[in-house]
Amino acid sequence: QSGFLSGEERMAVPHVLIFPLPLQGPVNCMLKLAELFCLHQDIHVTFLNSEHIQQRLLNCTDVQIRFKKYPNFKIMTIPDGLPEDNPRTGDQVRNLVKGVEDVSSPLFREMVTSGSLSPNSEKPVTCLLVDGIFPFAVDIAEEIGIPLLYFDTISPCALWTYLCIPKLIEAGEIPFKGNDLDALVNNVPGMEGVIRRRDLPSFCRVPDLDNPTLQFFIKEGKHIFQAQGLIFNTFEGLEGPILSQFRAVCPNIYSVGPLHIHLKKSLSSKCSVPKTSLSNSIWKEDMSCMHWLDEHPKKSVLFVSIGSLATISKAQFLEIWYGLVNSKTRFLWVQRPGSVIGLEENNDVPVELSKSTKERGCIVSWAPQEEVLAHPSVGGFLTHSGWNSTLESIVEGVPMICWPYFVDQQVNSRYVGEVWKLGLDMKDICDRAIVEKMVREMMEVRKIEFLERVREMRNLAIESVNEGGSSYKDLDRLVEDIRLMRI
Ligand code: UDP
Repeated sequence: QSGFLSGEERMAVPHVLIFPLPLQGPVNCMLKLAELFCLHQDIHVTFLNSEHIQQRLLNCTDVQIRFKKYPNFKIMTIPDGLPEDNPRTGDQVRNLVKGVEDVSSPLFREMVTSGSLSPNSEKPVTCLLVDGIFPFAVDIAEEIGIPLLYFDTISPCALWTYLCIPKLIEAGEIPFKGNDLDALVNNVPGMEGVIRRRDLPSFCRVPDLDNPTLQFFIKEGKHIFQAQGLIFNTFEGLEGPILSQFRAVCPNIYSVGPLHIHLKKSLSSKCSVPKTSLSNSIWKEDMSCMHWLDEHPKKSVLFVSIGSLATISKAQFLEIWYGLVNSKTRFLWVQRPGSVIGLEENNDVPVELSKSTKERGCIVSWAPQEEVLAHPSVGGFLTHSGWNSTLESIVEGVPMICWPYFVDQQVNSRYVGEVWKLGLDMKDICDRAIVEKMVREMMEVRKIEFLERVREMRNLAIESVNEGGSSYKDLDRLVEDIRLMRI
């Protein structure tokens, strides 16, 4: 055996190499897409994880056992270029992307051009499916003649604003003139009258155009359309108008979300719902909060979490805490280790807060979020508006109070509050009185209105992944296209 396969044999084995940005959110949804592919036995999947993420996944989940049943699945690892003790929080994302570019991308190139997954190997890769934030994939795909698909795991509505930044600069809308963050933005097609300056991605709030973060994100718009297709974790009922904008510039869009219920549906239709959890968490989930939730009435608990990357100051943390306690609502709060800047280990939280929390609250360091949102006693979600969290909340019919931290979250929260009307957008204000007011509004005053509205959106989400639904059909088309891809 020379290791060279005949053309016919090569055509017989579709093989996707999936390479996510090594962070909780992208890894989570790309693993879900990987598992959806694995349900098609003729498609081989290699998942390229960072060593750091892989180790944490193995420590915290059953992922190894779960994927064992798929002989067509394999995980490979490469370093992400950051030292092991780097916290990999939101402020490190640019360093992480740089680490991937400097350290991981040469190894990735070697792997697919001359190494174990190259055209000369036993099972060559026939499709690269890569995070939209990795521009280097375009050249590599071109060099070896492999089709490339980009998967942007943020919301299309936020990505659309990234792509319009050159237009906003040309029109003189960025950098902002004056301090009025409430001024409407005019040059994002499809978002006229909706988006204010404060709703643009956080990196647009810069005094000059040389800002490296702004320049970094402008680049994303240049390469993503060089791929053969763009994959999104969304559904037509939610983002139809924005998807139409995308289709006008890139006809090959696959809108396959929400991936987490798409996977659950597909597993149940194949009667193979696993006994193990479907979690891809890189923190150990504290399951005790599920028992705590069991003790409370339906829709009475507010879930509070700022995701895997966001950080808050100690002052903001205390404002939120006072607001929650003063609202008299029951709450389950994820206080991720390291997420509060300036909080000491033996923290000096005022006694009255700790006392009230014992009566009405539960604090954990990481929760099984999908299960929490699905619990009958959860009636609201105070969230940082990360895209996965937003979709998970919609799917479980839970309205949101949005307190966005950075990048896409400013756009997502505007859409939640103003366009989809699935909750309230609290952005830029962290004041105990406002927190209290919004919690009361969502959990009491306008409770029925919000629950109704989210239920309608939840139904659209479920329809989209049911047989014949838009996301179902797009996934089918994606799988068929991958089968047809040739090296
Ligand atoms: N998550 C979780 N437990 C928690 C908090 C978050 O499992 O206690 C998961 C959540 O379900 C979501 C992901 O972490 O899938 C966070 O992704 P998102 O895009 O919402 O935000 P990011 O962390 O990327 O800012």
